[in-house]
Amino acid sequence: MSEILLIPGPTPVPPAVLKAMDAQMINHRSAEFTALAKECHEGLQWIFQTQNHVIIMPCAGTGGLETAVVNLVSPGDHVLACTIGAFGDRFAKAAEAYGCKVEKMEEPWGRAIDPQKLAARLAEDKQGSIKLILVTHNETSTGITNPLKEIAAVCRNHPALLAVDAVSSLGAIDLKTDEWGIDVVVTGSQKALMCPPGFCAISVNGRAWEACEKSKMPRLYFDWRGYKKQIAKLHTPYTPAVSLYYALAASLKLIREEGLEKAFARHARVARICREGVKELGLELFADPNHFSDTVTAVKAPSGVDPAELRKAVRQKGFVLAGGQGHLVDQIFRIGHLGYISEADVRSGLKAIGEALAQIRG
Ligand SMILES: *Cc1c(COP(=O)(O)O)cnc(C)c1O
Repeated sequence: MSEILLIPGPTPVPPAVLKAMDAQMINHRSAEFTALAKECHEGLQWIFQTQNHVIIMPCAGTGGLETAVVNLVSPGDHVLACTIGAFGDRFAKAAEAYGCKVEKMEEPWGRAIDPQKLAARLAEDKQGSIKLILVTHNETSTGITNPLKEIAAVCRNHPALLAVDAVSSLGAIDLKTDEWGIDVVVTGSQKALMCPPGFCAISVNGRAWEACEKSKMPRLYFDWRGYKKQIAKLHTPYTPAVSLYYALAASLKLIREEGLEKAFARHARVARICREGVKELGLELFADPNHFSDTVTAVKAPSGVDPAELRKAVRQKGFVLAGGQGHLVDQIFRIGHLGYISEADVRSGLKAIGEALAQIRG
């Protein structure tokens, strides 16, 4: 039975993208590879809305986030981690793992970062002790999109670098890397880019490259400087995930056909349909309505209903939902609606949820 994945990654891969991967390997030190890489890099620059070089590295999204830490700061450096959920916590953990002095600015799960509060904290740091600010654009664990444009504007009044986790937003929710002055933006292949899991993409601006040169962090595979040396030829320091370049070139073609603005509008429309459908089922949304995510919807399990049991019943109807993360595991379930997902997919998924609820309640 074919299932429809309504989870926030990996997302369904379009048939044209699957087909593009059914091709023989090529020498990754050839003009042929460079031509393919050029297509991929230019497409990513367009989606990141940047003139920066975008690094493509084989690893999960978390690896991309880790590279931001190991290339931008040194052990002992003061890092301000803005976290509103599981993925913000993970970004903070990466900085802790490398011996940074991590200060967390937290909001309760289900809420967004308050730019005014961040502004006040940064204004206190008159000596410029804070070297790096970590922000999650879209917190996938709670279904919240942070007001990134406002947050970035606040950060620009302080010398610290700003690194953004855009793994579950880039390509689905507007993110103007250059216009908003964001130093580093990281995404993954398996979300709005509609590719299989396996590579991350990282936009690095001039300030970030300078910090990378100065960083005293130990690094080898994750060292951005290896990538920098190869930029002109568009080669990579280590073997690239060749099949995923085939996939990315094909998915970029689809995204270009739809257009970036139209893709954002589609995600907003599908998210609205999802939230309205959830409410029509008599269920409650988890997140702060002022900051609802357009890529993932967190839903409170009704009292007396185990969200794991509900997901299991929905799965039998052909739709895969995501569970809650961290302390929310028994309280919520999540509906992913990013990438290759249509209005009809979400409507059918909601119908299945309604039927499964009726079944459970008997
Ligand atoms: C999916 C996701 C990641 C990365 O997950 P990986 O499993 O490491 O690819 C990071 N941040 C956010 C916000 C995500 O949604």
